[in-house]
Amino acid sequence: MFENQERTHLEELGEFGLINHLTKNIKLTQKSTIKGVGDDAAVLDHAGKKLLVSTDMLLEGIHFDLAYTPLKHLGYKAIQVNLSDIYAMNGTASQVTVSIGMSSKFPLEAIEELYEGIYLACDNYNVDLVGGDTTASKQGLVISVTVLGYADEKDIVYRNTAEEGDLICVSGDLGGAYTGLQLLEREKLVYIENPNIQPDLEGKDYIVERQLKPEARKDIIDLLKELDVKPTSMIDVSDGLASELLHICKQSNKGCNLYEEKIPVDPMTYETAREFGLDPTVCALSGGEDYELLFTVKQAEYDKIKFKMDFTIIGYITEPNAGCNLITKSGNVHPLKAQGWNAFGSQA
Ligand code: ADP
Ligand code: MG
Repeated sequence: MFENQERTHLEELGEFGLINHLTKNIKLTQKSTIKGVGDDAAVLDHAGKKLLVSTDMLLEGIHFDLAYTPLKHLGYKAIQVNLSDIYAMNGTASQVTVSIGMSSKFPLEAIEELYEGIYLACDNYNVDLVGGDTTASKQGLVISVTVLGYADEKDIVYRNTAEEGDLICVSGDLGGAYTGLQLLEREKLVYIENPNIQPDLEGKDYIVERQLKPEARKDIIDLLKELDVKPTSMIDVSDGLASELLHICKQSNKGCNLYEEKIPVDPMTYETAREFGLDPTVCALSGGEDYELLFTVKQAEYDKIKFKMDFTIIGYITEPNAGCNLITKSGNVHPLKAQGWNAFGSQA
């Protein structure tokens, strides 16, 4: 990485020089940001709103592999995965702090790329970068982001408030990020065996982007507001549909019926899963990292949402004794499992 490009050693700048370099062009846009980078703490004023806070940490070798993850994408994704948690509370994201640990092998140019992605995400989603921490790491790159947001108390949507009879909805489509990851991992192995072979990702842009450059679904939150629909419960899909739906049901003390044929899977996801000998439904249920929103709405809202293309109704909430069930395309009923890999055979 960066072998043929300009390399500025971080020691030349020092810690404060680096922080200054990375943050000197920040333009604060949020009314609630009183003071951003540059003092001992940021100062925020959310003027009577409830404050929402969430943190996610990304570790090299655990959450990302620099062999196929461009740093700009990584910075972008680090922000998106955090924003997604605020939207999952039906809130507005307003500020982030970014803490990085990196080895001295990273030249300034690499960190600049990472921050390009971070600033792009902040720009696109209208949030201010208001602080962070910068430290040396001996083992790999670490990025920890904290996101702050706000909401009126009456608008906040929790996980534990789904009601019997509610419709279960999910935005976008599922399983793409996971199949994209399979593809990137395969091409990495091919490259390790023969560095002369160029990665073959031809025609697979969508699922590769789903893995490398997810977009938090702020648009869904805006749409629900526009439709005047407040979900009864909501969670973002970071670990896979099955796991998230089980969280909602367990915390709400309810059961559910989820229909396999309703689960939205993009054709490219479907085709690629098949190429890898994977069941597309299992990819959607257990793949994770799709960063879609899973939510429940009252049946009475059906007329408001039935023609919306941005999300799909995939089942409904039941009483707790009915359990959490997946109804397969062939009509069989299976208990929904968080780790779906062996739940109903490897191939449908
Ligand atoms: P302190 O010594 O109080 O921890 P630092 O020297 O670490 O302060 O940071 C100085 C300022 O720069 C603070 O406002 C801090 O939030 C900000 N900052 C430090 N590292 C980063 C970073 N990686 N990204 C954005 N802001 C940062
Ligand atoms: Mg510090």
